[in-house]
Amino acid sequence: MPQHDVVVIGGGPGGYVAAIRAAQNGLNVGCVEMESALGGTCLRVGCIPSKAMLESSELYRMAKEQFAQHGINTGALELDLSKMLDRKNQIVTGLTKGIDGLFKKNKITRYLGKGRLLGPNKVAVEGDNPVELDAKHIILATGSISAPLKGVEVDNNLIGTSTEALSYPEVPGHLVVIGAGVIGLELGCVWARLGAKVTVLEYLPRIMPGMDSEMATEAQKLFQKQGIEFKLGSRVTAARVVDGKCVVEYEGADPIQCDRVLLAVGRLPNTNGLDVNAAGVKLDDRGRVVVNDHLQTNIPNIYAIGDLIAGPMLAHKAEDEGVAAADLIAGKYAHINYDAIPSVVYTDPEIASVGKTEDQLKQAEIPYRKGTFPFAANGRAKALASTHGRVKILAHADTDRVLGVHILGPRAGDLIAEAAVAIEFGASAEDIARSPHAHPTLAECLKEAALAVDGRAIHF
Ligand code: FAD
Ligand code: NAD
Repeated sequence: MPQHDVVVIGGGPGGYVAAIRAAQNGLNVGCVEMESALGGTCLRVGCIPSKAMLESSELYRMAKEQFAQHGINTGALELDLSKMLDRKNQIVTGLTKGIDGLFKKNKITRYLGKGRLLGPNKVAVEGDNPVELDAKHIILATGSISAPLKGVEVDNNLIGTSTEALSYPEVPGHLVVIGAGVIGLELGCVWARLGAKVTVLEYLPRIMPGMDSEMATEAQKLFQKQGIEFKLGSRVTAARVVDGKCVVEYEGADPIQCDRVLLAVGRLPNTNGLDVNAAGVKLDDRGRVVVNDHLQTNIPNIYAIGDLIAGPMLAHKAEDEGVAAADLIAGKYAHINYDAIPSVVYTDPEIASVGKTEDQLKQAEIPYRKGTFPFAANGRAKALASTHGRVKILAHADTDRVLGVHILGPRAGDLIAEAAVAIEFGASAEDIARSPHAHPTLAECLKEAALAVDGRAIHF
């Protein structure tokens, strides 16, 4: 029976990063992944393919609507969707093969098959080449799957999840998106830019629950201008295919007939086939594996990371937990500051945030001061012809410590990195304001927003 210091189950951003770090720590590592490609949801059917489609569709929209203002006339524009999808697939293949290379470099043994716990130190690999593994430590990293919705009959074709929406073979005439969360907005934007009519049905009275509500309201107005229709306060009760068309029923209005439906009402932790009971690993009432501050389950040599446990379902959170689990197993110090984990919605403009929202500060009665700065007053944003949105910095009223940063605007996803570092280092708004920022850059908006916390913005 093969013996390993660490067996990782799941080869997504949590699992493959944990495996590499554990190997770097000198441990003998095996990684069990049931798909032939490594990389998990993120690389195969998540972050990477969605960003590839967001980039391509945004270029198409810019060519159609914005190039002319730069003095670039393209003539008739043509969409070659199958080439766009091929490009996306090539990026995915390149990156997933890259992980195979990293596994070889780090001498990690890769097992192709479904991992099942047989006990605290034993894992069965089920598949074409079944084998049992002996493990001193196990890291569970089996990620998440799309949440179903009662009454919605997913056929993985006309009514599907994000996986289908990354590969529609034609631009749908009318796409109905159920859920105005991150997936609904990102993929809704892709198909709207490529010419689909997009209707988003959202149960709550707002889009993007969890994001700063002021930013979400401003973003919704911009998405509406881009042609996306929102029906808020609309609880979907059923969706089915009738005579080749989709029919979506929701409370308070007549059913909608459309060409395709994207179900995006969240994701659930994936313990399918893992048999957590065999090792006695505890789950919470939402099916997530319960871990302590050291990412250990109730069975001390079994760790769990990523979408499988509580916290935001984000690839970089899973990666950081993977590194931490591998370091803790190797007897090193590890810590994750969950307050400093940024989140980004890759729409246009992008929406990025880190730390507390204004709503959370109000609710917790934490005194704060707020500085905002609009991209419309930034020279680089004008050069980019992308002036919507702003930066908002929330700092403690007494200590000036940065508590939250929210950005709606061009390249917000890249700009938020500075804010995450500021929060990790316990910086004040004054620290950001005093740090030189190159001119002309979008990052100057952060410096100006930090100055604005104290009413000292120069350019607004
Ligand atoms: P996963 O990536 O889900 O990996 C789990 C792996 O375990 C899978 O490969 C699965 O095949 C394997 N597995 C499951 N069960 C078993 C078993 N029993 N045996 C063997 N293998 C098993 N996050 C971001 O931060 N940025 C983004 O831009 C972003 N975009 C996204 C877009 C979409 C459309 C989706 C769906 C998600 C997106 N996410 C994004 C979320 C991100 O993909 C997840 O947070 C991340 O993949 C979680 O990593 P993980 O390693 O915990 O799980
Ligand atoms: P989500 O939780 O972000 O949004 C789901 C939305 O569906 C919510 O607004 C919810 O109110 C709504 N909803 C629930 N039931 C409904 C009903 N019956 N009718 C209408 N609306 C309903 O979930 P998601 O968009 O599916 O994304 C899943 C996860 O994937 C997220 O946690 C996110 O972290 C991750 N993800 C991240 C990125 C990124 O980082 N850029 C991109 C895509 C996905």
